[in-house]
Order: sequence, then structure tokens, then C-alpha cells
Amino acid sequence: MRIDIISVVPDLLHSPLSHSIMKRAQEKGLLEVNIINLRDYAINNHGQVDDYAFGGEAGMVLMIEPIDNCIQDLKKQRHYDEVIYTSPDGQTLNQGMANQLSMKENLIILCGHYKGVDERIREHLITKEISIGDYVLSGGELAAAVITDCIGRLIPGVLNDESSALFDSFQDNLLSHPVYTRPADYNGWKVPEVLYSGHQANIKKWKEDQALQRTQSRRPDLLK
Ligand code: SAH
Repeated sequence: MRIDIISVVPDLLHSPLSHSIMKRAQEKGLLEVNIINLRDYAINNHGQVDDYAFGGEAGMVLMIEPIDNCIQDLKKQRHYDEVIYTSPDGQTLNQGMANQLSMKENLIILCGHYKGVDERIREHLITKEISIGDYVLSGGELAAAVITDCIGRLIPGVLNDESSALFDSFQDNLLSHPVYTRPADYNGWKVPEVLYSGHQANIKKWKEDQALQRTQSRRPDLLK
């Protein structure tokens, strides 16, 4: 899968997407992340990509021309399944949406900044709008990093069996069971005995029960 991310602050994206599982995904050739600096498409040699909002409101708006030129440039090179805009009024990201997006080939993610982007971009160029939650960020970069991370780890082959996404929270509408590691007894705080009993069937049942209990007490809405 290839994800092209368009941003006015590309540095915000480099670090979150170049470590740990995202790094491995790219090294294995399963995920290609291309970060584009929107200023490369500025309308003048002052690097201008934004302007004042019509209507006299405070705050800058990302202009249509640089974004249109950038997206058209990308589209000349390949077909994109979705052109995503990160936006607080978009569809809220969840695991189901991440599962679906992880099956796509090529995605563009446009990060807004300041007051947002000229609405005509959303009307004519964007195919999907995603929010990462009901709060407002200063820019779409952190949202794009979140979207890329949760999609990227779902691409087959990215996670090994041990950390398989199938047992994570929200797959099957259940939260994950608790996990423990050594020592089995830390100053009297003990790990549930069943986990080191070696009895695989009991361990499996314990995990299922815990996942269900946890979901019932913390997120009963998921079970509906
Ligand atoms: N004025 C806008 C917010 C602009 S915030 C409004 O009230 O809706 C600047 C940019 O940050 C947005 O254009 C968007 O790309 C990004 N952003 C902010 N909050 C976000 C969220 N919850 N999810 C995804 N992107 C978000």
C-alpha cells in the first residue's frame, strides 16, 4: 500500500511514521509513505499556500490552487482509491474503517491547517473525510499519523503472529484481555495463576472471559 500525505508541516509526520512497526512495514516493502510539502506547490516564491478567509473571519485558509496542483500531480502517477481530508467534522475513525482502508492500494491524505482548507477542495477533490475524535487539533498531521499507523499495522504481513491484530481491542467488538509479564509475583502483586498453568484451553477461556467482562464494564455500547 502507498499513502501520500500532503502537509504544510511535513516535519510533524516524519518521526511518528519512521519507528517501530511503521518502520518495519516500510522496510518490508508492505507500506510506502510519501510525505509531500505543500509549499512545493506554493503560488509564488514567498511560499504562499494560504490566504485570509472571505467574510472577514480571523485565521488563514489553505488555498485551492496549490492543493489542486499537488493532487493532480499525484493522480498523473497512479490511481488513488480515496483522497482523504482530515477534519473534525468528518466520519469518526474506528477499527472497522481502518480494516476497510487497509485493503486499499493507494491513498492520499490531505492535512488541513489554520482555519482549514477552502471548501471547494472538499466539494470537488476529496472522496472521504475522517475525524480522529470530537476535539480540535492545530493541524491534520497528527490525525494523518494516527490514520496511517492504524491502517498500516493491519496490512497482512506487517505484524507477526505474536502481536496479531486479530486479538486487539475492537476486532470482534471486544476490548482486549489484560496482559502480564515476569515476574509472576512482584512484592505480593500476583499474575493470575491460570496464565502460567500451561493449560492452553483454560488460558484461552480466561482470556475470552476477561475480554467479555472488560467490555461489559467499560464499553457496554460495543456489545449492542
Ligand atoms: N476550524 C475548523 C478546525 C480547524 S483545525 C473547525 O472548527 O472545524 C485545523 C486542521 O486540523 C483541520 O483543517 C483538520 O485538518 C485538522 N484537525 C483538527 N481537528 C481534527 C480532528 N479531530 N480530526 C482530524 N483532523 C483534525
